[in-house]
Amino acid sequence: MTSRSAPQTTPKVLRLADHRFGPDVLAGVEEVLASGQLTLGPRVAEFEHAVAAHVGVAHAVAVSSGTAALHLALVGLGIAPGDEVVLPDFTHPATGNVVLHRGARPVLVDVDPGTYNLDAGALERALTPRTRLVIAVDLFGLPADYPALEKVLGPRGIPILCDAACSLGAELSGESPARRGEAAIFSFHPRKILTTGEGGMIVTDNPGLATRLARLRNHGFERRGEQAVFHELGFNYRMSDVLAVLGSAQLPRLTEIVDRRNYLARLLSARLEPLEGIRAPATPAEGVRPTFQAYVAVLDEEVDRGRFIAALADKSIESTIGTYALHAQPSFREVCGTEPGDVPVSWMLAQRSVALPLHPSLSETDILWIAESVSSALEETT
Ligand SMILES: *Cc1c(COP(=O)(O)O)cnc(C)c1O
Repeated sequence: MTSRSAPQTTPKVLRLADHRFGPDVLAGVEEVLASGQLTLGPRVAEFEHAVAAHVGVAHAVAVSSGTAALHLALVGLGIAPGDEVVLPDFTHPATGNVVLHRGARPVLVDVDPGTYNLDAGALERALTPRTRLVIAVDLFGLPADYPALEKVLGPRGIPILCDAACSLGAELSGESPARRGEAAIFSFHPRKILTTGEGGMIVTDNPGLATRLARLRNHGFERRGEQAVFHELGFNYRMSDVLAVLGSAQLPRLTEIVDRRNYLARLLSARLEPLEGIRAPATPAEGVRPTFQAYVAVLDEEVDRGRFIAALADKSIESTIGTYALHAQPSFREVCGTEPGDVPVSWMLAQRSVALPLHPSLSETDILWIAESVSSALEETT
């Protein structure tokens, strides 16, 4: 009766993210617990070296979250009150919150309706003599259009910070997009490609920046001979060794994980493309390998998104909105002087985008069931 050829009876819930840890990972955790060195120990250093090697950068600094990584990076890059920091309007609030935490001014720029990433033309129009930094987000794991951004920013000498929270394992012309900026940050939140529960990392080729970030994450602590010196105001943004082993254990499988995500995304898109009422995410351009951290489609205006999400939940399929239009959030409206709708493409995407389950634990049958359920949910809610 519970045959997989009759998916209507599928008893399990298809979650947006679903990470599995094997006995090897648990053994690693036990080892750390037995060692007594629970933070800033050898496991954190090991994880940093492994990520740096994977990305192809010289330095990595592990921290307690992707948000902590963004915040530290802004401190390290010298962002201060009065500075303008340009970022896409359609992104996780963390990307903009850290700018506010610095007392700097977020300049929220519209995105491309196909890729959901920063629009280089809109970016160029937003630059002023006070622009100190551009945060490029590889949203949902699709690398931003770095060649176009670099063309605008290179001649002006404005640095890029890559918010690569979603794009560990992505590629742009055979390289990690995280190599494109002065620094890049990753998140290891459970909805990301690789998870430590909570965690983040900053990568950079700049040795001075890396040394300073490593100090700043630990209260500004520096050992000078016998003495501990705190010569700069820092934070406690440390990562625990207990969590670092989780990350190191997943890293060797990263390529395989991202391959599987791309394969499942192609399968799902092929099923969604013929449907009316929904637009599948853009097919990646030549030389672009996304991670599909989230599989985000766009509903037609006529579809009631709330009811669509509820209809999928009735079929045991978890779904949610894509992400937020920052200019419409109360915490940004006052500082930025914006009204909901002022950044039009982002606003449209914030109303109509929907994230569907996509992760390596799904089977082909699960994907077909998702596509079939989307089709019937569209019929019910249009
Ligand atoms: C998840 C995410 C963050 C924040 O990462 P945390 O680890 O949750 O703090 C920042 N930026 C983007 C684009 C994200 O998706």
